[in-house]
Amino acid sequence: MITHALELSAVSKVYPPPTAVTALDGIDLVVESGETVAITGESGAGKSTLLSILGTLERPTAGTVRIAGTDTSALSDAQLSEVRATHLGFVFQQFFLLEHLSVLDNVATGLLYRGVPARIRRSRAAEALDEVGLAGRIGHRAGQLSGGERQRVAIARAIVGRPAVLLADEPTGNLDSATGAEITSLLSGLAGTVVLITHNPDVAAAMRRRVHLRDGRIVR
Ligand code: ADP
Repeated sequence: MITHALELSAVSKVYPPPTAVTALDGIDLVVESGETVAITGESGAGKSTLLSILGTLERPTAGTVRIAGTDTSALSDAQLSEVRATHLGFVFQQFFLLEHLSVLDNVATGLLYRGVPARIRRSRAAEALDEVGLAGRIGHRAGQLSGGERQRVAIARAIVGRPAVLLADEPTGNLDSATGAEITSLLSGLAGTVVLITHNPDVAAAMRRRVHLRDGRIVR
């Protein structure tokens, strides 16, 4: 059997009453290992809901979600956390760094729940920082960095555990266009699979595939 990085079959999400909004309506999506995918669509189209379901942060109302071949529907919440910790990395528009911690320690926290000893956490963090071009900023506090550097730290934190898939929600949304282009090129050049939400056509164009949502359906 071929193992896809991500596989959604007939996934729907209906939020509970009183809203009872159908945020996703029969999504079929396969993402292969090493692919880069942009999710686009108007506000309210279902992008965030789709990313949350891909990230196992929310469960679908119907359909199945497979992460690296594992059907997540049968898993307990604790097992889902384990899948997240071992297979998925997350990057957000707002970076979410610990401002008072060093850059190195911010990245090392990406391995906190993996049972990796502190010394190895630090050496892997240094490697990940090298990959995002921040080897020269290891000892800085996160609060001392520019926006683009912060997002590089957040990307290093997301990849330090070598996840199968990196999920990013508007990763360039808080950056000026030149810095956003640098971050886009970094993300599209990573070895792993990347799925990101973006409103920016340049970011979308840099990904291998674009998936456009409207009213909870993939329209192209
Ligand atoms: P997008 O990210 O494309 O803007 P969302 O996935 O956030 O779209 O939302 C899709 C639809 O689901 C919208 O109509 C939104 O109002 C609704 N929705 C999102 N989250 C919730 C929630 N927690 N409860 C009820 N409705 C929600």
